[in-house]
Amino acid sequence: MTKFSDLNLDPKVLKAIDDAGYESPTPIQEGAIPPALEGRDVLGIAQTGTGKTASFTLPMITMLGKGRARARMPRSLVLCPTRELAAQVAENFDTYTKYHKKLSKALLIGGVSFKEQDRLIDKGVDVLIATPGRLLDHVERGKLLLTGVQVMVVDEADRMLDMGFIPDIERIFGLTPFTRQTLFFSATMAPEIERITNTFLSNPARVEVARQATASENIEQVVMMFKGSRKDREGTEKRKALRKLIDAEGDACTNAIIFCNRKMDVDVVAKSLKKYGYDAAPIHGDLDQSQRTKTLDGFREGGLRFLVASDVAARGLDVPSVSHVFNFDVPSHAEDYVHRIGRTGRAGRDGKAVMICVPRDEKNFDAIEKLIQKQITRIDNPLKPADAPAPSEARADGASPAREDKPKRTRARSRNKPKDDSPKTEVQADAPVVAAEVEPAKAEPKPEAPKQAPRENNTRSRSNRGRGGGNNNVVGLGDHLPGFIAMSFEERSAN
Ligand code: AMP
Repeated sequence: MTKFSDLNLDPKVLKAIDDAGYESPTPIQEGAIPPALEGRDVLGIAQTGTGKTASFTLPMITMLGKGRARARMPRSLVLCPTRELAAQVAENFDTYTKYHKKLSKALLIGGVSFKEQDRLIDKGVDVLIATPGRLLDHVERGKLLLTGVQVMVVDEADRMLDMGFIPDIERIFGLTPFTRQTLFFSATMAPEIERITNTFLSNPARVEVARQATASENIEQVVMMFKGSRKDREGTEKRKALRKLIDAEGDACTNAIIFCNRKMDVDVVAKSLKKYGYDAAPIHGDLDQSQRTKTLDGFREGGLRFLVASDVAARGLDVPSVSHVFNFDVPSHAEDYVHRIGRTGRAGRDGKAVMICVPRDEKNFDAIEKLIQKQITRIDNPLKPADAPAPSEARADGASPAREDKPKRTRARSRNKPKDDSPKTEVQADAPVVAAEVEPAKAEPKPEAPKQAPRENNTRSRSNRGRGGGNNNVVGLGDHLPGFIAMSFEERSAN
């Protein structure tokens, strides 16, 4: 078996890996680190949870160990689709640069003041981790030059595509030197991704660790086909079924992420679980950044057992010990299922994914089984007819049945006029201007939607850039900026 020490990594990186408790490289690390260290371009086809972040951060740190950064000219660049993911990559750098006191980094994401980011860039950074829109903002303000970038990483390229960031990525490629090394990661290889890699990567080492859009084998997947006794009780009964499913897992369910398709359902489900004594909190793009950070930190640190989430959490969130994922709704895009359940069973651990499927979701469910090329095990409905909640019980579940079955309907209708009750992506259902950087809009078949929502927020139109007004601002971290985001490695070591 390959050991980290076989991979030619810097001894100080090896020491940090040892401290992190990793015993051996994962397949993507084993495949990507050697060519990256040789200076070759790498095309990594790997889903999240495979250890892909370390597969680019470890060689980068080894390579950047020599040399120093110049003011406003970062030596390397990591592009991420969301703020959460960027912050997570930054945390990875913190972990692995433990013994590289001199390497500095800056995180350029929406919601953090330009002033603080400018200060770090002015000092010169070795590693710049950014979302595409914010990066281009800095470039356009003349505060940042990408001509010194020796290594450029594009992480989660397929998500970039979903969010309409590909034109920005192409532009950023054009601003970096032709001689740069490119490390490019994507869970899937859509034709557009293939085109980008053909254009911007030079004879890359292709490292593929999983079949396209397959879920890890160590995740047990089950589904409960569910039909409410009456349409107006479906929501209440579904939430009761969810509680039964959670209870059925017993102590094996140490913590879980519960995914809903719509933000309004995230709130309702979290509220309902709390009401029934479950330790649950919601997270979605409508909550301000400080609230989201607080909830995520609580979940990561084990202070919160159930995180009720929209797809915002499906990507950036890395909680190594999530025992379960519950899909309260069948995601309307089959690939989201793979990403959602990829939150459990990470880095070789076992995990379990439980989904509830109502009749109107069966088409989406079929698409999932087709994509993963596997039949998901059917389990019995834990609600016997007699178990269906009585009206009084239903009222205890968050709100009165009548009100609860139509949560915030008026608001959603008045904004977006959905024609029916079928699950919509969040942006369709209730899209605040601020949500889209982390709430990928995939409002197919309307082709404009995927581009529009993120553009307004993260890659907003060029004419708006730099004016500092209008809807430019993503909900801010404000005064609640987590310390690690603003820190450079240097500063951390000084503390
Ligand atoms: P990623 O796919 O980069 O999101 O990584 C998923 C998780 O695997 C993270 O929690 C990493 O800390 C962890 N991890 C990365 N590499 C290894 C390794 N070689 N051994 C064990 N865990 C790892």
